[in-house]
Amino acid sequence: MRFDVLTIFPDLLTSPLAEGIIRRAITDRKIEVNLHNIRQYALDKQAMTDDRPFGGGEGMVMKPEPLSACLAAVAEEAPGGHVVLLSPQGRGYNQQVAQELAAREHLVLICGRYEGVDDRIRSLYVDEEISIGDYILTGGELAAMVLIDSVTRLLPGVLGCSESATQDTFSRDLLKHPQYTRPREFEGQAVPEVLFSGDHAAIAQWRLLASVRQTIAKRPDLLSRVRFSKQEWKILAKHQLADQVKKLGASRQESTEQ
Ligand code: SAM
Repeated sequence: MRFDVLTIFPDLLTSPLAEGIIRRAITDRKIEVNLHNIRQYALDKQAMTDDRPFGGGEGMVMKPEPLSACLAAVAEEAPGGHVVLLSPQGRGYNQQVAQELAAREHLVLICGRYEGVDDRIRSLYVDEEISIGDYILTGGELAAMVLIDSVTRLLPGVLGCSESATQDTFSRDLLKHPQYTRPREFEGQAVPEVLFSGDHAAIAQWRLLASVRQTIAKRPDLLSRVRFSKQEWKILAKHQLADQVKKLGASRQESTEQ
């Protein structure tokens, strides 16, 4: 998968790209990330990428010409990329959007700065605007990095254990069960006994119940999207959780699938 990031501050991304799983994904050629400094496409000697807003008002606006020239350079090298403008006005980012983006082969990410980007860039070149949350960042670089990170870990072969992405929080709108490692006891808190039992079915059942309880407590809104298998529903009923999740909008699969 190829990412092209258009920014006036490429150095903001170099360190996150040089560590951990993302670095390994680059080394293993699972992803390619190209950082483009928009300033290099500025038309004037001062390499200006922003200007005052028409109509007056606060702040500066990113000029369209350097951005369109930078986009043209990317398209010449690799045409057909899906162009995303990072923007607080965009579609809310979540795991489902990450999965959608992970199915693409080429993402072009435009990072705004100042008061944002001249709107003609959005109307002429942008396929979609994405927001990473209802708050305002100083620029789109951190948002672009959030996209690159979350999309990359979904790509085949990127995570060491192929299971981990499918077991994550949000992969099926349930929060992940609590996790423990050594020591067995820490500051008077013991790890649940069942996790040492070696009984995989009992552990799976404990994890399901812990996951559901965690979701009820922290993110009850997610449950309206969850469909439990018949088998899971039975377990929830046995532990007096079925009525509760039903009230929160969860449903039971009617087919024979488990
Ligand atoms: N004046 C703009 C507004 O009110 O909508 C905010 C501009 S913000 C200071 C500068 C840039 O940061 C934006 O153009 C965008 O690229 C990025 N940005 C800020 N918040 C963001 C968010 N929640 N998600 C994605 N990008 C964001």
